[in-house]
Amino acid sequence: MNLNDEINKRKTFAIISHPDAGKTTMTEKLLLFGQQIRSAGTVKGKKSGKFATSDWMEIEKQRGISVTSSVMNFSYQGYYVNILDTPGHEDFSEDTYRTLTAVDSVIMIIDATKGIEAQTIKLFKVCKMRGIPIFTFINKLDREGRDPFELLEQIEEVLEIETYPMNWPAGMGKRFLGIFDRYQEQFVRFKGNEEEELIPYDTLDHEQYHDLTKQATYQETEEELALLDEAGDPFSMERVLKGEQTPVFFGSALAPFGVETFFKTFVEMAPNPKPRKTTDALIQPEHEAFSGYIFKIQANMNPAHRDRIAFLRVCSGRFERGMTVKLTRNEKTIKLNQTQQFVASARETVEVAYPGDIIGIYDPGYYRIGDTLTDGKELIQYDELPQFPPDLFKRVTAKNVMKAKQFKKGLEQLVQEGAIQLFTGHPYESLILGAVGELQYQVFEHRMKHEYNVEVSLESIGERIPRWLDEETVDVNLFDDRNMLVKDREGQFLVLFKNQFALNWFADKHKEVRLIDLFDVN
Ligand code: GDP
Repeated sequence: MNLNDEINKRKTFAIISHPDAGKTTMTEKLLLFGQQIRSAGTVKGKKSGKFATSDWMEIEKQRGISVTSSVMNFSYQGYYVNILDTPGHEDFSEDTYRTLTAVDSVIMIIDATKGIEAQTIKLFKVCKMRGIPIFTFINKLDREGRDPFELLEQIEEVLEIETYPMNWPAGMGKRFLGIFDRYQEQFVRFKGNEEEELIPYDTLDHEQYHDLTKQATYQETEEELALLDEAGDPFSMERVLKGEQTPVFFGSALAPFGVETFFKTFVEMAPNPKPRKTTDALIQPEHEAFSGYIFKIQANMNPAHRDRIAFLRVCSGRFERGMTVKLTRNEKTIKLNQTQQFVASARETVEVAYPGDIIGIYDPGYYRIGDTLTDGKELIQYDELPQFPPDLFKRVTAKNVMKAKQFKKGLEQLVQEGAIQLFTGHPYESLILGAVGELQYQVFEHRMKHEYNVEVSLESIGERIPRWLDEETVDVNLFDDRNMLVKDREGQFLVLFKNQFALNWFADKHKEVRLIDLFDVN
């Protein structure tokens, strides 16, 4: 098969959601379609009890690497699907954001009973700033949820994206009859545990329900549909691909209901691997020479196994196991024979990979996040990954002052690796760490102890809202503990605002100071 055919088959995406919205349940159903697992409930072994953060190290120890992140892939309807897991629970970290740089589209799951929740907003913003197409699945229709119109309105308002309902529910919870599939022009009838029944629009019998309540629900839905057709925005594939419109599907991952029709439409619509920017060109996936970049490095928490896995997204050409590659940063030549790909929870060795695929490479400490690998014929460097704004900050010191040297070395290396971000207090030069999830601190502490033999003290300065300043010099008198002034690694000033109120107050009082939100500029 030639390169073009392989590229055209590839669909690489992530599922984002707030904890408990149904990401795991949905992933399991998709894997069932791909026949990667025999029964639901095997992804992450989560159904046997969710693991809390404290269990996490234990789990990492038992399994070696990678409970928190994996790549699953399978063939479906002639496509080759890569699902990148974005940890969404206590193990939320900057890696979650970086993973989103390696996908071509995203499925956003929203719990119909809750609407949009905090974590969805964060992840959504990253997609938005990178122009990633977003497909929305509104889950848990089998329960009494919020009004569908209200849900759409919330998505449009909070996330600032146009919505287009691909299907529309007839009732919810106990009154749930099924969904009108506007795209395929069919009614998908919900029959409890039985298989879904598909009825084409033109053969729909309006009198199908004898029950009066059901009849009423059905008629109500028909009116809503007419309203949508008249007043809703028209569907635009072009806008979907630009990330300006999101196709919305209603269903239930658990039932499961509407999942298969959703996924079939999704794989057809979702974009194939897109070209990627280098420092001076745009590399098409069809480009013959192999290239890719590393978007995440996963360290093994088990002290007995220091190996790490670097996750690489193939951007062009064909990858073959055992091939020799060149690392652009230092022009080092490396033979890649230990390549692993993750399928559900079992590790497999990858023989070949194509653009859109993600491969895990054994890392003896060679790689950094953002590194470009090529087949060595040409030296290119993919664009740096953006710096994502952290929101949890802690002061860090070594417990034992005699260990200053190891402390500095460990800190430098872990920061460089992208495990955590480092800031210096201004003007007092205290060291401040920034992360997007508590887990990053646990991993940091653990690795400092086991890899660099240093115990660290972390003093929380709480959740903060960071805003960068574009000035070289600032009036330090404007800031105090409430609005803390710090510098990032590039020497750029930023302010850590205590809360939204403090931020608004400051912005109002000092209109001359331009405050930059990294989510808006990357
Ligand atoms: P995650 O945290 O996003 O991965 O969410 P899970 O997939 O673990 O789901 C959280 C809870 O919601 C579990 O108890 C699921 O059984 C339940 N759940 C998921 N999908 C549905 C659904 O469609 N309907 C109902 N009633 N419950 C669901």
